[in-house]
Amino acid sequence: MAEALLLAPDEPSPVRHLRPDGSSPFVFTCDHADRLIPRRLGRLGLEETEIARHIGWDIGIWEVGLILAARFDAPLIGQGYSRLVIDCNRPPEVQSSIPEISESTVIPGNLHLSDHDRQRRQNEIFEPYHAVIADALEARRLAGRRTILVALHSFTPVFKDVPRPWEIGLLFHRDRRLADRLLPWLRHRHDIKTPVGENEPYAVSDETDYTIPVHGEGRGLPHVAVEIRQDLLLEPVGQRRWAGLFGDALTEALALMPTDGPP
Ligand SMILES: [Zn+2]
Repeated sequence: MAEALLLAPDEPSPVRHLRPDGSSPFVFTCDHADRLIPRRLGRLGLEETEIARHIGWDIGIWEVGLILAARFDAPLIGQGYSRLVIDCNRPPEVQSSIPEISESTVIPGNLHLSDHDRQRRQNEIFEPYHAVIADALEARRLAGRRTILVALHSFTPVFKDVPRPWEIGLLFHRDRRLADRLLPWLRHRHDIKTPVGENEPYAVSDETDYTIPVHGEGRGLPHVAVEIRQDLLLEPVGQRRWAGLFGDALTEALALMPTDGPP
């Protein structure tokens, strides 16, 4: 008997790929773009208010990505199912890939999963998303195109009752080429009222991240992950402001990036 699929034929594809032929060196990714839940999973046993808050998705960042993609004519690849179904920025083998608890909320629909349940989420959501990113980056490499990977995220202003002081943070691990050209510019902006996070509100690691280690470091591409605080992105005016500000920083950094060496 054929195994039932997780996603029904009428449910949205996990992957959104905009401007695939965009002319920019930048490629934007958005691992936590939305908060869809496959019908077969019910609502994971959660109230809608839980799914709608930061544990379910990165509030406001997809809209920032749309503005940046249009400004630079850059590809934007996003994943629309909730990070509570499977976190597309975690290696699928780690426990937090399909969280049983997120912040302080127990996720009933993620308890006591079989290997088959886990594999289905990985096969139908995680793998297609990362395959689109990998294929896009490989096509650019084969075409000899310059590529700079920018992973877009947003973060909650308060986590486990601890307020976060940053408005924006840049995350990176082994390769700081792009971060070192963005940070000084962001730090000189007088309209950013807080310290600019450097590996804050958290640091990238091979265990807690996937997109930067695999697609950025793994391919030797200059890259950064950006985190913008969610309370600043609740309305279009804030989304435009922060997309503008970060986009200006990218423009400045691009002019300073060496174009020789590995693409
Ligand atoms: Zn995120």
